[in-house]
Amino acid sequence: MAKIGVYPGSFDPITQGHLDIIKRASKFCDKLIVAVLKNSRKSPIFTEQERVELIRRSVTGIDNLEIESFDGLLADYVRKKDAQIIIRGLRAMSDFEYEFQMALTNKKLNPEAETVFLTTDINYMYLSSSIVRDVAKNGGDISEFVPAEIKETVENKLRNI
Ligand code: ADP
Repeated sequence: MAKIGVYPGSFDPITQGHLDIIKRASKFCDKLIVAVLKNSRKSPIFTEQERVELIRRSVTGIDNLEIESFDGLLADYVRKKDAQIIIRGLRAMSDFEYEFQMALTNKKLNPEAETVFLTTDINYMYLSSSIVRDVAKNGGDISEFVPAEIKETVENKLRNI
């Protein structure tokens, strides 16, 4: 049976930290679906289509990827996609409590799926989409934070809001 993974998130916008997780997870999944949560509780700055498009432009060269958006319960989406693995990234202890709660909830709702946590690359430990948004909004350099292919688009959007 093909191993299908789902990497869900807000990706508002995708960062080098997300991209690192995508690259690593794509190596042990036959297919990896990067799933953009449409109506995130975080009220995203980038639209759903923009977030999908920014990911698409960042992942050139990885063949076994699908990028799409979803709404509703992750556990249901994972089942619909015939996936068995939920991928999440773990930065510091601050991520742990929320991620632990989500993993246990998803296990209850979909016992067939396993959540697999990948620890952040040490270079991206501090990095989050909100840091990117704050730095770009204030005219700072985000070239180390986001893939080169999307830097200008992200800057243009954030400097004009
Ligand atoms: P969510 O709103 O679902 O937390 P995010 O886009 O903030 O969406 O994050 C998606 C996933 O990527 C989460 O599991 C998060 O912990 C992980 N992640 C975010 N930034 C990094 C990073 N710098 N290194 C590793 N994992 C990360």
